[in-house]
Amino acid sequence: MTPDELVAFDQEHLWHPYATTPSAVPPYPVVSASGVRLTLADGRELIDGMSSWWAAIHGYRHPRLDAAIHDQLGRMSHVMFGGLTHAPAVELAGLLTELTGLPKVFLCDSGSVSVEVAIKMALQYQQALGRTRRRRLLTVRGGYHGDTFGAMAVCDPVNGMHHLFAEALPRHVFASRPPAGYGAEPDPGYLAELARTVESHTDELAAIIVEPVVQGAGGMYFYSPAYLSALRELADAHGLLLIADEIATGFGRTGELFGCEHARVKPDIMCLGKAMTGGYLTMAAALCTERVAEVVSAGGGLMHGPTFMANPLAAAVSSASIRLLLERPWRREVAGIEAALRSGLAPAAELPGVADVRVLGAIGVVETQAPVDVGLAQKAAVDHGVWLRPFNRLIYTMPPFITSTDDVVRIAEAVVAAARTV
Ligand SMILES: *Cc1c(COP(=O)(O)O)cnc(C)c1O
Repeated sequence: MTPDELVAFDQEHLWHPYATTPSAVPPYPVVSASGVRLTLADGRELIDGMSSWWAAIHGYRHPRLDAAIHDQLGRMSHVMFGGLTHAPAVELAGLLTELTGLPKVFLCDSGSVSVEVAIKMALQYQQALGRTRRRRLLTVRGGYHGDTFGAMAVCDPVNGMHHLFAEALPRHVFASRPPAGYGAEPDPGYLAELARTVESHTDELAAIIVEPVVQGAGGMYFYSPAYLSALRELADAHGLLLIADEIATGFGRTGELFGCEHARVKPDIMCLGKAMTGGYLTMAAALCTERVAEVVSAGGGLMHGPTFMANPLAAAVSSASIRLLLERPWRREVAGIEAALRSGLAPAAELPGVADVRVLGAIGVVETQAPVDVGLAQKAAVDHGVWLRPFNRLIYTMPPFITSTDDVVRIAEAVVAAARTV
């Protein structure tokens, strides 16, 4: 097929994320990727400003990650996890428990599924303790936790998909969104309101679920670690579990290995995904404390078991990706990207259609006043040799950690060019 035929067939038969079919903006055909560059079918090379949605932190075709998959493929690509175990799963669990301090690991297929598992853990925990009325979750507005029904029910009720599925979703408790700004002084009024919201629902709440410090797809929004500490204290005071959804924030993206570390908070349950496999394959994890596992196990065991649980290929590449991350000077790399984004995105603040410019770790965001024309903004970036995927009022980037300063500068120029289209 020629590239044009490829796109035509795609438009005829394939769904894309959150899209109509055919897609409103035809997709760009990509033929390969290496380092931080995507190669399009027409030969153009684009610097990847998206890390394939937070995932490809080491870039593409990294020799170490390629080798991990090849080696594992020579032994077995998959085997059921019911009644069997294998070295790739054990090795990955060892790394994850060491890094998070959470000793029990459930390996599943995707971030959304890990959120479903985390919610089940929390509900089964309360049930096993005889607190059968505690079936709801508390979260803050503006969050994003995935697209499956359990996860969707804790996404932002306005910007999420609640309006489409309202009658089919369990109703959880939404506190207002923490005040904006990573470095903002904690607002006593907000903290008091948060405490009141928890207190007025204590008897029916099983857990609190939040994205620590950075809300991703719900708005690329940063808030002070002080609010995370406050949620930890409220959870402890009222017998709730704290679920940290680190699927976007995990593995160094925010400048700490995990978002929770900004507040030195330890969650009871943690969800990991996206960058866990270095962006190679789909795998996620729901981890929990000894205590949660003990109670859930005493109640009869955790009721989840995906067909592709603990897939050996994904587990092998995850371990390789985590080892590679720990060997690299990732803190310095992320700090370098942060500095280059800060200076590179600053000109956007002067543009008439721009509402806010913010940077934290290897995440850069330009928020516009009106919704972005995705096709137009994306084309402006592509014309600058950069791949971006703006949505709603957000033009943002989270480059692979291996991106050179020159390439980060070009990404920032492309973000500014995209913001000029608004
Ligand atoms: C992407 C994301 C999810 C969902 O992960 P999938 O692998 O797309 O199912 C959940 N929570 C957060 C914070 C995410 O960024």
